[in-house]
Amino acid sequence: MKVPFLNLKTSYLELQPELDAAYQRVMKSGWYVLGQEVEAFEAEFAAYCGTQYCVGVGNGLEALHLILRAMDIGSGDEVIVPANTYIATWLAVSHAGAMPVPVEPDEHTYNIDPQRIEAAITPNTKAILAVHLYGQPADMDTINDIANRHQLKVIEDAAQAHGARYKGRRVGSLGDASGFSFYPGKNLGALGDGGAVTTNDSDLAHNIRLLSNYGSRVKYANEMKGFNSRLDELQAAFLREKLTRLDEWNSRRTRIANQYLKILSNSVDLTLPFVPAWADPVWHLFVVRYANRSGLMHHLHQAGIDTLVHYPVPPHLSDAYTELHLSRLPIAEQLAQSVLSLPISPHMTDAEGMSVIHAVQDAVPDRRSLIDSWITKPAIASSI
Ligand SMILES: *Cc1c(COP(=O)(O)O)cnc(C)c1O
Repeated sequence: MKVPFLNLKTSYLELQPELDAAYQRVMKSGWYVLGQEVEAFEAEFAAYCGTQYCVGVGNGLEALHLILRAMDIGSGDEVIVPANTYIATWLAVSHAGAMPVPVEPDEHTYNIDPQRIEAAITPNTKAILAVHLYGQPADMDTINDIANRHQLKVIEDAAQAHGARYKGRRVGSLGDASGFSFYPGKNLGALGDGGAVTTNDSDLAHNIRLLSNYGSRVKYANEMKGFNSRLDELQAAFLREKLTRLDEWNSRRTRIANQYLKILSNSVDLTLPFVPAWADPVWHLFVVRYANRSGLMHHLHQAGIDTLVHYPVPPHLSDAYTELHLSRLPIAEQLAQSVLSLPISPHMTDAEGMSVIHAVQDAVPDRRSLIDSWITKPAIASSI
């Protein structure tokens, strides 16, 4: 059975009547930028995340960039970022004029290792930008404790984790402000680019709103040198429809993830995702580790199963950051060599999940079959 990594057309078809109606509604309104769809989506998404404010912006990178600007973080300042993340997390810091200071990941969760944060703090550090990578919440209580001790801001990059919970609380509400992306492939995806900031800080929300709209609240009254980074009415209308399905779609991802976790746990040398007791992840990606990654990838490809690598080059090794002359980050580099993302999406069937599992089992030795070959047959026939 062929299993695509992600099929966005299937998610459109599942919601076609609602999305087509949303399209008609916006087209016929004659109003396409900063109107009632954006306003309604902002209220609905803030309520979903459990925050007082939400500001729609152009994309996830801009959400993070504008948060840093609104916090007055820029030239001469340092921001702690995960070494293991999508490069956009770092770019937001660079575009604000500040310096990204990487911290290695925890070897089990792949998220920033809170135990290593304090060693990276200097008198110039202004904030910790934590990422909920692959849909797994970062250890926010520990991160907030460190930030409080050193009077730092805490920013969440929640671009991969819409709806995930940490100790029962939704991501997006766990720091001073959070950036979300609605890129089509994210758990809550628009049909184009989009992003948002969530926060409980009214001044910050106000400033981000100004920054996203040329620095003005009232037309031609420009209070600061702003940008143009807004969520479109059309995308907001689509997102309102998709938000009503987010929990259901996340639980379908969880169902596939649980199937993988249960059956693949016997596979020798294949490292499965680790879920801490306090985490309710939303499985943006299902990332395994395997020493012979290219062999496994090739085998799955032959079996018709698409896989991807998130991410093959850590930001500090990318050409964009050679100028910083950062030292080696062995844990992040080792992850980049061994991680492999198996297909997972709300629209995958159990049968597709099983064919992924069977193809993995074909390539990776199974503990039971190893025991089979070690021990004489009659002895184990009764024990297993
Ligand atoms: C997707 C993503 C971003 C950037 O979001 P865009 O909307 O694509 O700009 C930032 N951080 C992480 C972790 C992401 O996955």
